[in-house]
Amino acid sequence: MSLHTFNTAITDPIEFGGDPAVATSRLTGPATVITADNARDIAGICETIDDAADRANHGRDWWPLSLSWSLQNQVPRIPGLVCKPRTTEEVSKLLAYCNTHGIAVTASGGRSGVCGAAIPLREGVALDMTNMQSVESVDEVSGIIEVLAGTFGPDMEDAARTHGLTVGHFPQSFALATVGGWVACRGAGQYSTRYGKIEDMVHALEAVLADGTIIRTGGAPAGAVGPDLSQLLLGSEGTLAVITRVWLRAHPLPEVERRGAYVFDTLTDGFEACRRIIRNGATPAVLRLYDGAESKRSHGGNGTNATLLVLDEGTEQLIDATMAIVHDVCMSMGATVGDVALVEAWTHHRNDTSGLQALTRKGYVVDTMEIAANWADLDNVVEAVETAMLAVPGARSSTCHLSHSYIEGACIYFTFAATPSAEEFESTYLALWDAGQRAALAAGANLSHHHGIGYSRSQYMEQALGTSMQVLRSVKNALDPKGILNPGKLGL
Ligand SMILES: Cc1cc2nc3c(=O)[nH]c(=O)nc-3n(C[C@H](O)[C@H](O)[C@H](O)COP(=O)(O)OP(=O)(O)OC[C@H]3O[C@@H](n4cnc5c(N)ncnc54)[C@H](O)[C@@H]3O)c2cc1C
Repeated sequence: MSLHTFNTAITDPIEFGGDPAVATSRLTGPATVITADNARDIAGICETIDDAADRANHGRDWWPLSLSWSLQNQVPRIPGLVCKPRTTEEVSKLLAYCNTHGIAVTASGGRSGVCGAAIPLREGVALDMTNMQSVESVDEVSGIIEVLAGTFGPDMEDAARTHGLTVGHFPQSFALATVGGWVACRGAGQYSTRYGKIEDMVHALEAVLADGTIIRTGGAPAGAVGPDLSQLLLGSEGTLAVITRVWLRAHPLPEVERRGAYVFDTLTDGFEACRRIIRNGATPAVLRLYDGAESKRSHGGNGTNATLLVLDEGTEQLIDATMAIVHDVCMSMGATVGDVALVEAWTHHRNDTSGLQALTRKGYVVDTMEIAANWADLDNVVEAVETAMLAVPGARSSTCHLSHSYIEGACIYFTFAATPSAEEFESTYLALWDAGQRAALAAGANLSHHHGIGYSRSQYMEQALGTSMQVLRSVKNALDPKGILNPGKLGL
């Protein structure tokens, strides 16, 4: 029996300020034009849509800046044609055609990305993968689910549950995002401390290269067969290949669930408790530590103290032992036991983004930035990012929570807001990101933990990867020499 409580009721992204059929592109730059001959040829390969409103919708995702542009009836860039293949073979033929004719192809799933990764920066073809939705097979003995890339989270997980299995991947955007999008962005779910990130869940992949070649990667529990090519495609954001099929690792449905809440004097005490919990070998599915402001907003904390929410599920003995370690560590750090109703409040509101959307409609700048850093650097990263963001003129708040933990460090998720004048909205948004991202990198954090790079973070890739950026460029040139796959993303 399932013990999860899903709240998949996420409201739609912000509406257009007028008729989307007459929306215009906000961004300019080189474009690959689709001629009438191209459109006719492509229509012979797969389903195509050239309706203006549909094309406009495929010109944006949930990148907050583009959502605010929608209110002005603008999208970042409108593709020439939307293509919706149904099979891997159709994807293969489409890519081979576009490669021959030099047409840019930007894959998309649910377009729930928050960094503009699915924006067709060079127009061309928007390759919508959502016709490829199906759970193809379930291996109950090994616990492997084969799914087409355009399948949305609830459909995959519901099918797994009918076989007594769970994949355990529950991002806040569970209902909005596809399995292919999870893989392409190296996503993380809210139960990641037990089940891992998506890169830990992929058993094998099928993908199509720019020239139409169909490849398969992985397929064994572990290997020493050269570099792991699944990991090369994980996080490639549609720039190296189009993922068509994914085999996901699945776990038996949990027997029991346990919850707990702990209140700390300071965020630093809470970080130390999380570090000790993980280093003691306890990996509760949910281990989320909120600063005072966020704990009030997220689940009704007192607004001053840091709150740690814990939820674990699995086999009774294991989960009880895990929760006992959590309790002992928290007590040793001077925490007080919080009301378990705080966890209940979190589970009910965890996927509700309507508050953020309402602020955007009112003209607030509001966005989130997630990074990962080692335990030794966490305090400095938080201090540096919040100081840098709050120094931006118009900044109102910068708060954070720890959302995912690892043996050597954690993900910190910042939420920031500003109230600029309408004229300064965009410059303030960009200044906040720039201040936060540069401060995070300088303090030892990475560039992204699970939202990816997309368009909005591309400019920081050189700084983040250093000389390794050349390796990424070489891989790109080898796999996609004409540069047709999602041009302009990942800093490429
Ligand atoms: C409210 C909200 C909450 C969110 N919460 C989380 C969260 O908890 N955890 C998390 O990890 N993310 C979260 N996100 C971000 C987003 O949902 C993820 O990045 C998700 O993985 C994107 O999936 P998608 O199907 O929407 O992909 P899209 O946005 O359509 O595409 C994202 C990128 O993946 C590429 N892509 C998509 N499908 C394929 C494919 N089949 N082959 C190759 N490339 C492909 C696109 O080209 C693009 O570069 C959230 C977003 C929103 C709006």
